[in-house]
Amino acid sequence: MYKKDFPYFQNSKTVYLDNGATTQKPQSVVDATVDYYTKYCSNTHRSGFGDAATATTEFENTRIALQKFINANKKEEIIFTKGVTESINFIALSFAINFKTVIISSLEHHANIVPWHMQGRLKGSGLEVVNCNSNLDFDFKHFEEILKQNPNSFVSIAHVTNAFGKVHDIKRIISLAHSYDCVVMVDGAQSLSSFKIDVQKLDCDFFVISGHKTFGPTGVGAIYIKDKFLDIVEPYQTGGATIHTVDFEKGTTFLNSPYKFEAGTQNIAGVIAFKESLKYIENIGYETIQTRKNELLKYLDDELKKLPDIIFYNDIKDCSGTRSFNFTGIVHDDISILLDKMKVAVRVGHHCAMPIMNKLNIKGTIRVSLAFYNDFEDIDKLIIALKRALSMLK
Ligand code: PLP
Repeated sequence: MYKKDFPYFQNSKTVYLDNGATTQKPQSVVDATVDYYTKYCSNTHRSGFGDAATATTEFENTRIALQKFINANKKEEIIFTKGVTESINFIALSFAINFKTVIISSLEHHANIVPWHMQGRLKGSGLEVVNCNSNLDFDFKHFEEILKQNPNSFVSIAHVTNAFGKVHDIKRIISLAHSYDCVVMVDGAQSLSSFKIDVQKLDCDFFVISGHKTFGPTGVGAIYIKDKFLDIVEPYQTGGATIHTVDFEKGTTFLNSPYKFEAGTQNIAGVIAFKESLKYIENIGYETIQTRKNELLKYLDDELKKLPDIIFYNDIKDCSGTRSFNFTGIVHDDISILLDKMKVAVRVGHHCAMPIMNKLNIKGTIRVSLAFYNDFEDIDKLIIALKRALSMLK
């Protein structure tokens, strides 16, 4: 029903079920990219001629669109980056490095683990990891024990985890962390494509966004920084476009946010086109997206359960469009090779979440991640392909 809006599906016969890795882009996103390169390609925030002014206005319009989209208080709280990985590294190195302890969960993506390991190396700060139970539920009791021992820490947790699609009760995590005077960052890489985000209602201090996982271009993302931190966070990269004055005697003074954080030429086409994906989501509506994804997920789950020797690691409750599984006695890489031959795209492996794989004592899983544009036929094709693969491997 929605595939007609996405040029990929007109050109590819692949059954695309790897939306956790990246999402497809609607025609409007592609058109906006082409428009920039073919009609007014110029740098932003520098020259004053007509096309440059258009590029700057379109770029800034995305900032305003994103501000409204996540209900940030003001546009200065929105800073563009390359994606969630850069956003987390940015905050780790330019702000969280001053904290003695960082608290994450055991289900995090490497992008929300490795920067903290680096921070430990650079500054000797500690890393505390909140456990999950056998159904991969966040252990609030353990979290509170850690908070009691480590008030005033920096907490960084995914809203939706990537390997299993587990949805964390992020509002409860934020408010509990705040009650111990912690500062909280939410990794929204997997959530903005499916959940209405209101950063003021959530009351998070930082919220990081991935464009390409939200039906937008690759190489663009953003970070929401709550107003009260804007003057405390240091620039992560510096150079052109960030400065107020540069003087060999007096050094450098910076512009205010967001410009002090956006050094060098930005991914202008990407930022401009990202606005179209936000508009696209608004037109479809989160309610429709949710309903559709839940219907598809239920059907996927019912059909997968009919396959022999399947192992799930969590139930579908609190799951956002993802099933992650294995088959007893079968190497997931073999399944992947065979599915690829049958033009079914899923991801297999540790999904950049090695610590949780180690905890479960597995090397990885087969992950099917849905988007609202998938249909029941995609799932039927997956099941046929899985049955064929299993019959060849058993
Ligand atoms: N965090 C989570 C939960 C993810 O799923 C991903 C990507 O898979 C990332 C961070 C990294 O995001 P990006 O590709 O925007 O750097």
